[in-house]
Amino acid sequence: AKAAGRNTHCFYEAGMSALLASRNRLELDLRQAVSAGEFQLQYQPALDLGRRTVSGCEALVRWVHPRRGLIGPGEFIPLAEETGLIVPLGAWILHEACREAAAWPDALRVAVNVSAVQFERPGLEHNVAAALAVSGLAPNRLELEITESVLMRDSEAVIACLHRLRALGVRIALDDFGTGYSSLGYLRRFPFDRIKIDRSFISEIDARETAAIVRAIVSLGGDLGARITAEGVETPDQLNFVHRMGCQEMQGYLLSCPLPVPELRCFLARTPAL
Ligand code: C2E
Ligand code: CA
Ligand code: CA
Ligand code: CA
Repeated sequence: AKAAGRNTHCFYEAGMSALLASRNRLELDLRQAVSAGEFQLQYQPALDLGRRTVSGCEALVRWVHPRRGLIGPGEFIPLAEETGLIVPLGAWILHEACREAAAWPDALRVAVNVSAVQFERPGLEHNVAAALAVSGLAPNRLELEITESVLMRDSEAVIACLHRLRALGVRIALDDFGTGYSSLGYLRRFPFDRIKIDRSFISEIDARETAAIVRAIVSLGGDLGARITAEGVETPDQLNFVHRMGCQEMQGYLLSCPLPVPELRCFLARTPAL
């Protein structure tokens, strides 16, 4: 039993060091990728449900790894946040998204995800202002998406920063709404321009409670002057549901998955009729 215990222990240590080695490898690769610029933005269109036109696109980052191919953000954003690499990467994302959006029709906005770590370090406002100035994009066409995790940190400082960003003319959206544990509280703290209902609600439209919750969020949004986007709409039934509930906008695979720039430009050229 003692031997078995020691074996388990060795196995555990070997497993841990393999895990650490692969994490260190990933961190090293990520560091190099940030300086070499091995990233790509894809854009997921959103549909205005009233006007039935594309209203904007969300920029979603991918790592174009030289050996492994495209890597999704779930695999490297957490590490980029832990290591602080999200700061230079986030600055690149802001510049790149604004530069791309400046080539779109004037009515289209671009949404950029901003991580909590970017708020903790100085320079976010400067990066936003610089991305707008360099690209020539009108500030009201840029929307920054933040999650509750941003507000959970040092919310006084963050809220002051959000007000200064808003003063530049950019819009602020609350992402993944309903997944945190105190979502409602944050709505009192800052007047968001948009609330994005997390896709976990949209995928459960058959549950009776879901309809009540989505209806309540839409009504709340109306009272607070925020527009509502339903995320992760995959089926016509879900589209009908979010439309019926009064959401102003939808995003999801039913309209389009995130697209690389050439495909996005084709998509925008042939105005989608749903
Ligand atoms: P998010 O901001 O909530 O982005 C939406 C995610 O849902 C995207 O995954 C998108 O591809 C996926 N999605 C869109 N429509 C559907 C649908 O109909 N069904 C399903 N099942 N999924 C759908 P992605 O691109 O893998 O991004 C994952 C997360 O990584 C994002 O969640 C965001 O939190 C983070 N992320 C992505 N790009 C960036 C970035 O540029 N900066 C930062 N800080 N975070 C980013
Ligand atoms: Ca988002
Ligand atoms: Ca989201
Ligand atoms: Ca998310």
